[in-house]
Amino acid sequence: MNYKIAVIPGDGIGPEIMNEALKVLDKVGEKYGHSFECTKVLAGGAAIDATGKSLPQETLDVCKASDAVMLGAVGGPKWDNLPGGERPERALLGLRKELGLYANLRPAIVFDELADASPLKPSIIDGGLDILIVRELTGGIYFGERKTEPGTEEEGMVAWDVEKYSEMEVKRIAKIAFDMAAKRGGKVCSVDKANVLDSSRLWRKTVAEMHAADYPEIELANMYVDNAAMQLVRGPKQFDVIVTSNIFGDILSDEASQITGSIGMLPSASLGEGNFGMYEPIHGSAPDIAGQNIANPIATILSVGMMLRYTLGLGEEADAIEKAVNDFLKAGHRTADLVAPGEEFKSTSETGDLIAALI
Ligand code: NAD
Repeated sequence: MNYKIAVIPGDGIGPEIMNEALKVLDKVGEKYGHSFECTKVLAGGAAIDATGKSLPQETLDVCKASDAVMLGAVGGPKWDNLPGGERPERALLGLRKELGLYANLRPAIVFDELADASPLKPSIIDGGLDILIVRELTGGIYFGERKTEPGTEEEGMVAWDVEKYSEMEVKRIAKIAFDMAAKRGGKVCSVDKANVLDSSRLWRKTVAEMHAADYPEIELANMYVDNAAMQLVRGPKQFDVIVTSNIFGDILSDEASQITGSIGMLPSASLGEGNFGMYEPIHGSAPDIAGQNIANPIATILSVGMMLRYTLGLGEEADAIEKAVNDFLKAGHRTADLVAPGEEFKSTSETGDLIAALI
């Protein structure tokens, strides 16, 4: 098969890690007989420098004409003094909105070989950890009405932001969570604050109705967000798929990523209607280590795996990438972020070469 992929290397370590991900994608194509037609386009700081805009129309056009988008990372100190609306990171919001990507999937995986990197006690994560957080990405308080205005004399200024969800928004994200759970451990935990918020009560009711009607075979639990934050460090193995709103998902997915101990290892997917998706590592452009060939490309390589699995329906090929990463670690190889100072490590390009060779 021939697949069209839009590739946005971005800024900082983005181009370095993307090179390695493309090496692995090429190897998958060669081994399994697929052709991946990759078109590199600009977004973020690189696009601001070249065109004056963080998300040029041409980039959007190429993305929309592709089967999937791969993104490295955007941003850096060079553009930090631009006003909010003109910053490189603005491109991310634009891409999500324009491409209708309302579901963010973030796996938090502790690889057996890297159990030491987790800040949690071995007894808590014994036997590995594999949680999938499904975060609603285009609704809720981050996109709700907001205002800063004068209050009473006593109050001074007043600012407010509205958390608003429709049944339609909850249904479409819940469906993704239930479908994912069906392919994994068969459990969904829906996280809300239904003891306080109306929007959470509608969320909980809508998820429960969908569960009863369409997914009775999936085990559904509900949890308040404060308890979920606690349970993630107390007993993370109780979770399979967590589904939650934009703001709660933002916070919980960062917490979950830290349990795994290594930001350079975690991929993510943003999905919308149909199979289209955007795939990227969860970390940023790491300007502090850019250009030194020491960044860990594994999160980006695993993002390629997610793209093969979720957008292109190539499960066997995705398994092969995950196995190659595991084999790389089992062979004792480590990237710079995974070793103590002074210990030997593989460079960005060596890591890509070794993982590609293991496919
Ligand atoms: P960051 O994730 O870029 O870096 C945090 C720390 O983790 C740094 O010490 C960095 O060296 C390290 N790190 C990150 N990825 C690594 C990797 N693959 N291998 C080894 N070490 C890695 O976060 P930050 O420093 O807060 O942000 C830097 C820039 O990235 C900012 O401009 C920020 O806005 C942007 N950013 C972009 C995205 C994105 O493109 N999706 C996400 C987050 C931050």
